[in-house]
Amino acid sequence: MQPFDYYRPKDFGEAFKLLTLSDKVVYPLAGATDLIPHTRESVWKPDIVVDIKGLPGLRDIKVEGLEPCCGCAPGECLYVGAAMRMNEIAYSELVKLHWDILAQGAASMGNEQVRNRATLGGNLCTASPVADSAPALFVLEASVLIKGPNGDRSLPIGQFFTGPKENALKRGEIVVGVLIPKPPAGTVGVYEKLSRRKAGDLAVASVAVLALPGGKWRVALGAVAPTPIRAPQAEAVLNTGVDDTHIDEAAAAAYGCCCPIDDVRASAGYRQAMVVNITRRAIRKALEKLEIVDDIR
Ligand SMILES: Cc1cc2nc3c(=O)[nH]c(=O)nc-3n(C[C@H](O)[C@H](O)[C@H](O)COP(=O)(O)OP(=O)(O)OC[C@H]3O[C@@H](n4cnc5c(N)ncnc54)[C@H](O)[C@@H]3O)c2cc1C
Repeated sequence: MQPFDYYRPKDFGEAFKLLTLSDKVVYPLAGATDLIPHTRESVWKPDIVVDIKGLPGLRDIKVEGLEPCCGCAPGECLYVGAAMRMNEIAYSELVKLHWDILAQGAASMGNEQVRNRATLGGNLCTASPVADSAPALFVLEASVLIKGPNGDRSLPIGQFFTGPKENALKRGEIVVGVLIPKPPAGTVGVYEKLSRRKAGDLAVASVAVLALPGGKWRVALGAVAPTPIRAPQAEAVLNTGVDDTHIDEAAAAAYGCCCPIDDVRASAGYRQAMVVNITRRAIRKALEKLEIVDDIR
């Protein structure tokens, strides 16, 4: 593996100085579960890695109304720092309170060892179409909070992914966290992931389904397009009804939203066909959960 220098800045000023060194290839480093394998395989060739886990706010997870925000009242948004690890998110009682579908996505990632290191920010910044945190963040309509040498900005999650393994970050910028609006009371979510093995493998296809009160639905898909995507046609069908015919039509509409590729894990045709199955299954599970919520009330 090519040797590189390691720095762990304590403030953003020092971090941005390193991240913008003009004559060096510099990578932010979080859990290193993508960075080290890619460097070992010479896919990435850093001269310097900048460990961002010690920067202020990146290890916070809290509920608050922040600016720029989504219009939520204070206390209505979940902030998850970019350096929060997948298992910390999967087991967080705070996350499970209203944003459980994100906990489901985090829990489905890799294996126990990977989840103990891998961070949410790293999962987003690698920008793989299979990123297990992404479909949940799409249906929760999260914003990605970005800090850089030229200031702060935020992007809707759908604008952060710009292509396979490509994101909207500019030179020197890092993701500091995500901001997630609180869904209305009674919302339920289901994340379904299909992979070749039950644990430790990347998704062949994945779907996140969010059922909101009043019969409104949100659907997002992973691993079946150059980036994670929303499936508005499937949502439109479910918004008009959820009997068996509607469920089949919504699953077929999800199929229509896909444009997957063949790779070592599955053919494009198999991925697309499986989207029908997992979408149907996720909708049915969400309906079961809705019944339980209604029974409790
Ligand atoms: C065995 C194994 C199994 C895996 N299984 C899955 C799986 O099932 N699902 C899945 O989605 N992924 C999986 N992965 C991929 C990987 O674990 C995740 O993408 C992980 O979330 C990456 O996070 P990290 O903190 O390790 O990122 P790192 O490796 O530290 O960084 C990844 C990339 O993002 C950049 N980066 C990191 N944080 C930031 C930030 N805050 N701002 C700007 N840039 C940043 C780095 O410079 C680098 O380019 C697996 C990996 C392994 C090794």
